[in-house]
Amino acid sequence: MGWESSDYNHEGWVAAVAPDGRLSASSNGTGMFVHGTTGDYEPAGEFYPDQEIVPHDLIMSWRGACTCGWQGELWQRVPTVADADVATRKEYAPIGEIADVSGEVEEAVREEWLVHIAPSEAIRGVEAAAKEHRQAGHRLDKTVAAAKAAGASWTDIGRAARISRQAAHERWADK
Ligand SMILES: [Zn+2]
Repeated sequence: MGWESSDYNHEGWVAAVAPDGRLSASSNGTGMFVHGTTGDYEPAGEFYPDQEIVPHDLIMSWRGACTCGWQGELWQRVPTVADADVATRKEYAPIGEIADVSGEVEEAVREEWLVHIAPSEAIRGVEAAAKEHRQAGHRLDKTVAAAKAAGASWTDIGRAARISRQAAHERWADK
C-alpha cells in the first residue's frame, strides 16, 4: 500500500486491475491478490481464504485506489516500451514479470490521489483555526472578567476589545 492522508481517513495506492475489474492491493511472485472467490483464479491460500491470485500476465490495466472507495483513471497496459505514454495513460510492464507500474506512473497516480484528498486536507486548516478561535474566545472572556473585577469600566473594556461600551456590556455583563 502507499500514501496516507493527514487524518488517516484515506490510504491510496496503485491497484492492478484484474480482467473482471477487481482491484488488487498486494501481490506475490505468482500474481496479484484480489478479494472474492469466483473460481476463475487460483485460491490465495489458507491465510487468505477470501482471495484469489490473478497471474501477473493477465493484468491489463492499473488505476489509483483509495480505502474510501475512490478510484482513479485507468492506465492501460501496452505490449512494448515504445507504446508507453504517460500523457495518454499507457504503461508498459514486461510479460513474465511482476505487473508493477514504473515510478513515473506511480507518481502520476499519486498526484491524482492528492487532488482527491485535497478537500479533506484543506478542511484540517479550518478545524485548526476554529479551535484557536474558540480558545481565544475563552481567553477573552476570562481577561474581561478579570478587568471588570479589577475595576475597569465597560467603556474601558469596549475600547480594549475594539467594540462599543454597549456591545461589551451586552456580551459580558451576565458572565
Ligand atoms: Zn479517499
